[in-house]
Amino acid sequence: GFLGGSTNVSGGALNAVDDKRQKAQGIEDSVQKFYESTMKGGHNVGNPELVKYLTDNAYPTVEWMEKEGVVFRDKIGAATGSLGQRSHYGKKPAGYAYTSAFENKLKEFGDHVVVLTETPASKLIMDKSGRVIGVSGLHAGKQPVTVMAPSVILATGGFGANVKFRQEVNTGVWKEVTLDNRIGTTNINKAAQGDGLKLAKSAHADIIGLSDIQLHPNGTPGTGLMQDIATSGRNRLFINKNGDRFVSESAARDTLCKAIFKQPDGTYWLLMNKLRYPDENKPDRMGVTMKDMLALGRVKKADTLDEMAKLINVPADHLKAAVAEYNKAASNKGTKDKFGFVATNTDDAPMTEGPWYACLKVPTVHHTMGGVRIDTLARALDKDGKPVPGLYAAGEVTGGIHGANRLGGNAIADVFTFGRQAGASAAQQK
Ligand SMILES: Cc1cc2nc3c(=O)[nH]c(=O)nc-3n(C[C@H](O)[C@H](O)[C@H](O)COP(=O)(O)OP(=O)(O)OC[C@H]3O[C@@H](n4cnc5c(N)ncnc54)[C@H](O)[C@@H]3O)c2cc1C
Repeated sequence: GFLGGSTNVSGGALNAVDDKRQKAQGIEDSVQKFYESTMKGGHNVGNPELVKYLTDNAYPTVEWMEKEGVVFRDKIGAATGSLGQRSHYGKKPAGYAYTSAFENKLKEFGDHVVVLTETPASKLIMDKSGRVIGVSGLHAGKQPVTVMAPSVILATGGFGANVKFRQEVNTGVWKEVTLDNRIGTTNINKAAQGDGLKLAKSAHADIIGLSDIQLHPNGTPGTGLMQDIATSGRNRLFINKNGDRFVSESAARDTLCKAIFKQPDGTYWLLMNKLRYPDENKPDRMGVTMKDMLALGRVKKADTLDEMAKLINVPADHLKAAVAEYNKAASNKGTKDKFGFVATNTDDAPMTEGPWYACLKVPTVHHTMGGVRIDTLARALDKDGKPVPGLYAAGEVTGGIHGANRLGGNAIADVFTFGRQAGASAAQQK
């Protein structure tokens, strides 16, 4: 009954090469680097043309979003698994910074735009030639609704919450892991069921890369949800139940999750300190305060590492050695530590002072990289690579952009870049 899907609840990280903001922070970057890290991070199976379109157009999309009312922060960060420091964040909390701006924009169109919530589309309507000419479904489970249109855009998101389907197609990176209910998801249950894939198939669109499923390392045990503290970015350590670091905290998400599964109980503590939370009353990027998270018992707090070790039941000498080891790497910018962590990031700094905060985390199903095959005009394509007349697709319902592993911050860049293109193409019936 509300707009926004995963975008609304997302961390809001949006990757783009932004000369103005990045230069002001001393970050060196280029569109070529962005392209290369996206291809490499995706195990080189993403479609180079789509990746080029994404990386070339992410910043023009930021500028367009600003014109449409989104206000970005000046500070650029590095989302978990972003393999670069180019993540933009809105001024309002998380993904709501974007969905609220576009909801306001819709209002400007008055009666020209009709929004139907609680109305899952269940059928694409096609004419005899195979052209998609409309869509139908049921409002509130009972009232039939049919919309006839010259163009239809699928923007129904991914299928991370469809437990049965994700297990059926799980033959890729996570084939050794059972993606059943024991592993949670960050996605909204009713929204992320993969409906768009069925609709696209019915119009003979090609569906690609379904086995490319992403797990995120920062899930909450029991639910897999991520709506607590802002866990992405830097200056937070991954500590296992022996009190040791075990992976480079800036690695890609598949590398992080694979490392976590090898730890005792397949879980770990995300350890932070005053550096990330200088003021417990100040909302972080997710709009959440540390004070509330402490009150809810989601995070543990201690003034010293010795006290923290007791609280989280790990050997104090290991915990202190792990922090010292990280601090050495953070002070020696450009040198690799034994896990491959390199503190080139202008944000990386030694973590020395309490209070310390720790939050237990597990891998969780987060993103589905496969979906409807599209071209750079966001047209849905059939098995022969020909556009399905009248059908367009954008966002997580599509495939081919992120390869086998999506970079943190690249989905929000993708949904707005290709979403904007899909709108233009559909309006012009390209
Ligand atoms: C908790 C969380 C944090 C994330 N953080 C980040 C981040 O910081 N940066 C980043 O790049 N990515 C992030 N992601 C991933 C990113 O948010 C998603 O990939 C992206 O928002 C998907 O956008 P979308 O428009 O394709 O789909 P969504 O935003 O999910 O929207 C799909 C919409 O379609 C609706 N829908 C579904 N089926 C039907 C149907 N049959 N008929 C009609 N409507 C339907 C849904 O209800 C929903 O409203 C995060 C994801 C989650 C869940």
